[in-house]
Amino acid sequence: MTDLKFVPTTCPYCGTGCSFNLVVKDGKVVGTAPSQRSPVNEGKLCPKGMYAFEFINSPDRLTHPMIRKNGELVQVSWDEATTYIAENLKKYKPSERCALSSARASNEDNYAMMKFARGVLKTNHIDHCARLCHSSTVAGLAGSFGSGAMTNSIPDIAEAKCVFIIGSNTFEQHPLIGRREVMAKMNNGAKYIYADPRRTHTSSPADLFLQFHSGTDVALLNGLMQIIIKNGWEDKEFIEKRTKGYEDLKKIVMKEEYSVENVAKITGLDPKDIETAADWIANNGPTALIYSMGITQHTVGVDNVHACANLQMLTGNLGKRGAGVNPLRGQNNVQGACDMGALPVNFSGYQKVTDPANHKKFEDAWKFPDGIAPAENGYEVTIMMNVLTDNPGELKAMYIMGENPLLSDPDINHVKEAFENLEFVVVQDIFYNETCEYADVILPAVCYAERDGTQTNTERRVQRWHKAADGPGEAKYDWEILSMVAAKMGYADQFAWKSSSEVFDEIAEVTPQYHGMSYARLEQADGLHWPCKTPEDPGTPVLHTQKFLTADGLGVFFPADWQPPAEVPDDEYPFQFTTGRCLFHWHTGTMTRRSETLDKEVPTGWIEINSEDAAALGIHDGEMVRAVTRRDGLTVTARVTPTIKKGTTFMPFHFIECPANLLTHNALDPVCKIPEYKACAMRLEKI
Ligand code: SF4
Repeated sequence: MTDLKFVPTTCPYCGTGCSFNLVVKDGKVVGTAPSQRSPVNEGKLCPKGMYAFEFINSPDRLTHPMIRKNGELVQVSWDEATTYIAENLKKYKPSERCALSSARASNEDNYAMMKFARGVLKTNHIDHCARLCHSSTVAGLAGSFGSGAMTNSIPDIAEAKCVFIIGSNTFEQHPLIGRREVMAKMNNGAKYIYADPRRTHTSSPADLFLQFHSGTDVALLNGLMQIIIKNGWEDKEFIEKRTKGYEDLKKIVMKEEYSVENVAKITGLDPKDIETAADWIANNGPTALIYSMGITQHTVGVDNVHACANLQMLTGNLGKRGAGVNPLRGQNNVQGACDMGALPVNFSGYQKVTDPANHKKFEDAWKFPDGIAPAENGYEVTIMMNVLTDNPGELKAMYIMGENPLLSDPDINHVKEAFENLEFVVVQDIFYNETCEYADVILPAVCYAERDGTQTNTERRVQRWHKAADGPGEAKYDWEILSMVAAKMGYADQFAWKSSSEVFDEIAEVTPQYHGMSYARLEQADGLHWPCKTPEDPGTPVLHTQKFLTADGLGVFFPADWQPPAEVPDDEYPFQFTTGRCLFHWHTGTMTRRSETLDKEVPTGWIEINSEDAAALGIHDGEMVRAVTRRDGLTVTARVTPTIKKGTTFMPFHFIECPANLLTHNALDPVCKIPEYKACAMRLEKI
């Protein structure tokens, strides 16, 4: 009998970062097997994780470099491809080049891309898909607490006495964190409050379900705070000793506009339910507040995040186990890609590029003979798209590693127009995706199962990937490919790494939060939570225990008034449209739609319509309908259900045959530039 090998790694899908073993037979990955290694998932997996081996051996994997010649993609050698890329990139000024990094690539790959952009391309126009999911968290929590990260650990959630979930369908998007929410209720008697416009699996265990209108989060949170303050339930000692700006907060949240009666009108909730929620959050603690893209993906995303932080500071639910502000990152390595500085404003470790001391630090560490990108902020990915359409010729070349903006970004017609204005596009990926249609060069990368590396999950836990099998054909590690291109551009010495662990050692050297980490230390089963500053530091599962990470150690109240979404329903477009994901698929489906099991479970997309709304329009369950917004329209199967709030429609965004992002709105939060995926106006047409 052939021997089986079991190789420990972490899941390539959501930010929970579950561990499992890849089962290897005759050099091929043939399955997954539970691993008790990590306290994150304690050996359990959701369906996506369980079948995370099925796409690895897909015949669709990219296997060789390709160059588009006379409109046709032609297989070429690595030498020809990297020479061609270098020659073309050199034609452009630094300010004309931009790069997209990837939240599903390892920390090593993201660090390499950050160094490549700043040192080789000499540009700060680098970003990645965290812009689209949690940039409002990074901006909002950095202001409130001095760090944009999740404050507590995943196991910690089970210690809460009250769980308040707002804008997160945890059971489908982060199922193994959903398990902790239920554990808090089952083992700890916790009150379970769920606020969302849709009744989902996550609402099943709820003691209180607040089915509110999408885009009314600040009104709801301000209303909760007013009730807490009126009843004297605030944590006075915490406010006095650990925070500042409380009087400013009161000026806003105590306005008549946020009386429970008014908030009930704005949100569509029963006033009694709002009062009950306030009581439980304040008096049944520790309360863990958990949120995801329902909070972040709005033109007021940063205000929403601040309001979550305000509520938790008001009630003293920070710096202790079972409490905290817990934003659940989407992709497996969103946290790591941000930590590595794949952002237009930061080097790794959130060291601002505009700070001359940081600029000098990285210039000295990297030793590029002709320096690095100037100390000025670059463009966010959403701004890159706007610049490409509004100011053609300003940006000309884009290097994309592991992202698929042609399906993931808002208003796909707008993204297509942007790409048509690019002169040179490189795509480095594991599959041919929608964005490859615009590529001049396509480069094959190995996937998570075929590389050593690290990822940082949503709770800041840095964990190891181990190589289980060789990649297909001539596929290479992402950092290795970038090093080859860098060498062709004259920077071989700066990219002379021989292994992933050498890249990680450089990361640890220049990134304060990772200083105390090494591959040897990360072999321990439960990884290490950053900050981990010395080789003896055990890591930091709970942040802000004694003081916040702000300059003066105080948490800051940032009050905000409620503002409606950029586009609200009217006579012409009477429904409020919102988007999201489903249990069996992940983002643009490049991996899950190539998993036979997952694809069979959910073979295509749909639109959810409230039963009463459907009846009024004569639409029946399973019929094809036309969904139209001011951007475009598409034909999609109707899923008629009482579970979605009346007046609201919902589509998952995984499916190219009915791409939800053809319809979404490119309106941006003014601070962090996140798009408003969660609310725009729609019309439904019976076919
Ligand atoms: Fe993978 Fe997330 Fe499922 Fe865990 S919960 S198995 S990380 S998709």
